Amino acid sequence: MKIILANPRGFCAGVNMAIDALEAALRAFGAPLYVYHEIVHNRPIVERFRAKGVVFVDDIAAVPAGATVLYSAHGVAPEIRRQSAERNLRAIDATCPLVTKVHTEAVRFAREGYTIVLIGHEGHDEVVGTMGEAPANMVLVEDAADVAALPFPPDAKLAYLTQTTLSVDETAGIVAALKTRYPQIVGPSKDDICYATQNRQEAVKDLVPEADVVIVLGSQNSSNSNRLAEIARQAGRPAYLIDSAAELQDDWFRPTDTVLVTAGASAPEDHVEAVVEHLREKFGAEVETRTVREEHVSFPLPRELRILARN
Ligand code: SF4
Repeated sequence: MKIILANPRGFCAGVNMAIDALEAALRAFGAPLYVYHEIVHNRPIVERFRAKGVVFVDDIAAVPAGATVLYSAHGVAPEIRRQSAERNLRAIDATCPLVTKVHTEAVRFAREGYTIVLIGHEGHDEVVGTMGEAPANMVLVEDAADVAALPFPPDAKLAYLTQTTLSVDETAGIVAALKTRYPQIVGPSKDDICYATQNRQEAVKDLVPEADVVIVLGSQNSSNSNRLAEIARQAGRPAYLIDSAAELQDDWFRPTDTVLVTAGASAPEDHVEAVVEHLREKFGAEVETRTVREEHVSFPLPRELRILARN
């Protein structure tokens, strides 16, 4: 057996920052510490923090007045900030700057009188947060069929934005459908799909032709991880999205297979290592790391924690 370890894989700059922020906040304020939504969409990470006394809530009303709350990497709507202020919470904003960029674009387009078509997945934390920036001026589309059903007249003043963790190829198709129906539509100056999503997808696309089976480390509710498994399946390879080596089933593999292993942007590297170790032990797998693209991105801690560190 041969393992191809895709690079880049795993943690992105936004997830690194959000995890560092939560650890720093725990050190500074102790437990219990509240986080609005899962800090990142990864079950093992959420469980690790839960064990340290972090309480994840989906409703700001569940945070005791005056307590500390940290906003997850996926961002929040202004209404959530208002509710936090009303409850006198100490809020720490660990929103990924690349999500904040989309919020800023939404505010700008809405201010300039555009109706915004957001391409994304209904109910995803990031989509809920972005739509909250201009709820009266934004509609969500998930696919080209939704574009065909849009109720706007042909000359409507429209702009589009996207969730950061979508499939690059599918999104290009939806944007093309929007531009065909509304040639005047304007978009962000640079893609909203983030560098980490794009690079992980590019690595799977490049390497999947050499693989018989693909293992993606990531949680079922992780958008970017699901897209990696989808790309592998679209290339005709069986792909399994798992949180940990404990979910591996030996009958997924033949002893002579080439196994492509990758990880979504919120999946920790120790779980990748455990998968590699299992395949080594069971099948004598040899490992080859293949780097498709280098990444040198990092984000600073949230302002609230940087101020604290200075004092
Ligand atoms: S996947 Fe992209 S947008 Fe999401 S946290 Fe990571 S860098 Fe930020």
